[in-house]
Amino acid sequence: MIVARSLAQLREARQSLGGLPVALVPTMGALHRGHLALLARAREAAGTVAASIFVNPTQFNAGEDFARYPRDEAADLAMLRQAGCDLAWVPDAATMYPPGDATAVEPGGPAEAWEGEHRPGHFRGMATVVAKLFGQVRPHAAVFGEKDWQQLQVVRRMAADLHLGVDVVGLPTVREADGLALSSRNRLLSPGERRTAPALHRTLLDVAAALGDGREPGDACASGSRALADAGFGIDYLALIDGETLRPLSRVQDGARLIAAARLGSVRLLDNIGV
Ligand code: AMP
Repeated sequence: MIVARSLAQLREARQSLGGLPVALVPTMGALHRGHLALLARAREAAGTVAASIFVNPTQFNAGEDFARYPRDEAADLAMLRQAGCDLAWVPDAATMYPPGDATAVEPGGPAEAWEGEHRPGHFRGMATVVAKLFGQVRPHAAVFGEKDWQQLQVVRRMAADLHLGVDVVGLPTVREADGLALSSRNRLLSPGERRTAPALHRTLLDVAAALGDGREPGDACASGSRALADAGFGIDYLALIDGETLRPLSRVQDGARLIAAARLGSVRLLDNIGV
């Protein structure tokens, strides 16, 4: 595996890997089995697999967890190597945001509600850094997790709207045996919070079952929120939405999705399922 840390090294690496199509897996490191599944999907999509590791400061809000976001570059590179990754792109902040940097992507549409409201500026930072990564690595495809459903839709929309020529591929959420979606932030949960955390996925399944029984969505989501609050979560939202536009739905239709964000102590957990 080639590890590139500067744009010059990245250019050289791209040349030495030849003209094969490249599939990119953008990450913020602290890699787990979910990321490895993205790499395996990338391998199906292209002859060369690249992964980026960059904890992007501009997608964290003031007071959010940028400083305490888990970082373990040596372990990450070992995992990438073992997974058969061809190229690791590990830029620093000065490479991503050079002096005089003055351009950003301002995503609308699917970026506006939910995470967009709860984390102002988050999708602007995320979309900007993904656009930069696409420009640097020039992949043919990029693989993102459905775990961050709204992020996946924002990236799809951006790639289409800006004609970036990157095929954006989504991969179903990889979960623990108890249903908890794998996330780098799970390692910040206390043992007690870790025991409570699977209730988020379980509640989404319960709400989906209630919808299947014909329950009205507003009512079913309110019951789900109450169940989560009783379990000890602080709830940011639990909603039935159109999977592509992220608009709220008042009835189940094709492509509908349940999305939720809830806090356990200071750890914010996201999950979503198809309905
Ligand atoms: P991050 O974990 O924030 O660095 O995200 C890097 C990529 O991994 C994103 O595309 C995430 O959606 C994806 N990802 C994170 N957790 C999971 C998971 N449990 N299953 C599938 N993809 C995931």
